[in-house]
Amino acid sequence: MIVSQQKPLEELLVSLKEYNKIFLVGCGECATSCKSGGQPELLKMQAELIAKGKTVTGFCIPSAPCVAAQIKTELAKNMLALRDSEAILVLACGLGVQSVKDNNRLTQATIPANNTIFGAVMDAAGNFYEKCSMCGECVLDITAGICPVTLCPKGLLNGPCGGVNKGKCEVDNENDCAWVLIYKELEKNKKLESLKEIRLPRDHKKSGKPHKLLLNK
Ligand code: SF4
Ligand code: SF4
Repeated sequence: MIVSQQKPLEELLVSLKEYNKIFLVGCGECATSCKSGGQPELLKMQAELIAKGKTVTGFCIPSAPCVAAQIKTELAKNMLALRDSEAILVLACGLGVQSVKDNNRLTQATIPANNTIFGAVMDAAGNFYEKCSMCGECVLDITAGICPVTLCPKGLLNGPCGGVNKGKCEVDNENDCAWVLIYKELEKNKKLESLKEIRLPRDHKKSGKPHKLLLNK
């Protein structure tokens, strides 16, 4: 899941200052779950923009605006309102914003309403936790399923730094040291031997951008 958060309204009004007729696009997946682009947020945005003198020409909430087929269908259904719009304000992650821009046959400005923060898991209470940095070289098999690239702020691959203090991370003592967690988990699984193996530095070319996965070229 991609976590995004709405920008402050004042910042959005600066981005929208040249435009009066605005069409809103939300996201039925991630942005709905993290409350930055579901129906309640779109209705609130609509009311706030109207209160600031803007016209909201309409809105749609594709299940996943980052999927071309879905955003194309929703934009086609709303073509009349879109033709009457000067800008599209997208309440979704940066992927959604760019997908709207790439799949819109018209030429309105596409404006992000949200900041995209991190990839996350969601717990049963609806809280979000960053667990993977998409490094392209997964080591979870040897770290007992705990990601040192993400949970250790230094991304250390061969055990803790010298700053670990009573099991807490020196960078933020609210957080457990990732390597203490890994050690305890390996100990529980009787796999401590694996710590003796020195891991080579990561190949940062594997996390070089932009990535592509061309399955249907
Ligand atoms: S090592 Fe961590 S950042 Fe890399 S792919 Fe695995 S979970 Fe993601
Ligand atoms: S204390 Fe642990 S989690 Fe924090 S930077 Fe050092 S090794 Fe990483």
